[in-house]
Amino acid sequence: MRLITIALGALLLPVAAAHAQATSPPPAVVPANVQGVLERLRARALASNNAYEIVESLTTEVGPRLAGSPGEARARDWAVAMLRAQGFENVRVETFDIPYWRATRQTAEITAPAPQPLAIAALGGSASTPAGGTEAEVIRFASVSELEAAPAASIAGRIVFVDERMTATADGAGYGAAVRKRGACPRVARERRAAACLIRSVGTDSHRFPHQGASGAIAQGAGVPAAALSNPDADQLARLLSRGRVRLRLQIETETQNRVQSGNVIGEIRGRDRPDEIVLLGAHLDSWDAGTGAIDDGAGVAIVAAAARLIRDLPRRPRRTIRLVLFGAEETGVFGGADYARRHANELPKHVVASESDFGAGRIWRYRTRFGAGDEGYAARFFAALAPLEVFVTDAQPASGGADIGAMREAGVPVFDLTQNGLDYFDYHHTADDTLDKIDPAALRQNVAAWATIAYLAAETDWNLRSAEAR
Ligand SMILES: [Zn+2]
Repeated sequence: MRLITIALGALLLPVAAAHAQATSPPPAVVPANVQGVLERLRARALASNNAYEIVESLTTEVGPRLAGSPGEARARDWAVAMLRAQGFENVRVETFDIPYWRATRQTAEITAPAPQPLAIAALGGSASTPAGGTEAEVIRFASVSELEAAPAASIAGRIVFVDERMTATADGAGYGAAVRKRGACPRVARERRAAACLIRSVGTDSHRFPHQGASGAIAQGAGVPAAALSNPDADQLARLLSRGRVRLRLQIETETQNRVQSGNVIGEIRGRDRPDEIVLLGAHLDSWDAGTGAIDDGAGVAIVAAAARLIRDLPRRPRRTIRLVLFGAEETGVFGGADYARRHANELPKHVVASESDFGAGRIWRYRTRFGAGDEGYAARFFAALAPLEVFVTDAQPASGGADIGAMREAGVPVFDLTQNGLDYFDYHHTADDTLDKIDPAALRQNVAAWATIAYLAAETDWNLRSAEAR
């Protein structure tokens, strides 16, 4: 929270001043009746438990939903029923094929000098070890760059261990650097003929929960056996290695298929006079399978569905269409976002704005946009509408929109970010500890209020958030 206070003082005033100077687009005025609706939406969001009930239902009745698994298929059925029960129109599933990977066994043990088990999670796309496992000497690298610089002869036949740590930040800024090792370790290990790859988990906790995650090899077929150690197990291995040679046995068994079905589940509130113009709210339906995918991303599913539901319950529907997209197979390669952008390519110029809620369930503290040049006035209006929810921070960094929005963003769709407080997000992310109890219902309600605010404002106004040339 300290970071937020500092950022507020440092950023709010200069940004507000910059916004006031922007002049080119038509004035972004919020009419009094729209302002009144925003206030009602906010009050109802802060008094409703709908989002919590949605994520409770998903995590309890479906549970883990690995991309392409029967769990993910049940999640699609659940989502169709949920979206219909919430009163959305045009509820449908758009299916696509993905490669499938699942670990059926994942164990590791130090065999010498101090035999003991270690807590690991196989990385998505990991190869299976030979029957009986792979046993070899471990070689430790403090960072990915140290591994990349290592001569092949020092690595061949050994188990490579990348011991890079991740730092906790409110906006998840440590994730990009930490996640690089998930892709790099198996790749370098394969290229230099290592026996296997182990990484310190991409996570900020001190519990014995290893963090799952894609290694980038799922679509490429068999690589090397690759796994993440929990943070305390990585500490233990590092301490032993500082004393001398360590041998380790890894057993990973996996199940793979070249093509299985995944899909995006879609529902809408059709606009009353510009139904072909779309405000897209996204989240992803799939999860890793150690936990029940509560913060990643059951919370996001619940936030966007509950926000849209509040708008649906208004006496008059908004002018533009609000489209909910619950993406499939995000975790294993952002397949749902790619399929949506491909399938709806002709419609993308009519997408007014898009974003995905996919950073847990903490309170939103920051707002960013990537609108067209000259649209600072609109950005400022959205930001001002969030102030009663204590979203006080913005800056000039462009929004990403979220992983599944990436392909749309590349195609020119304006995007925004409502950044949640993620200080503890990577304590639970992709672990067995990602469960419903980690969600604070009050923080979830604040999220719903913020998403309803942005969605309604974007759908009720005629603001064009693209750059002037694209209008
Ligand atoms: Zn996610």
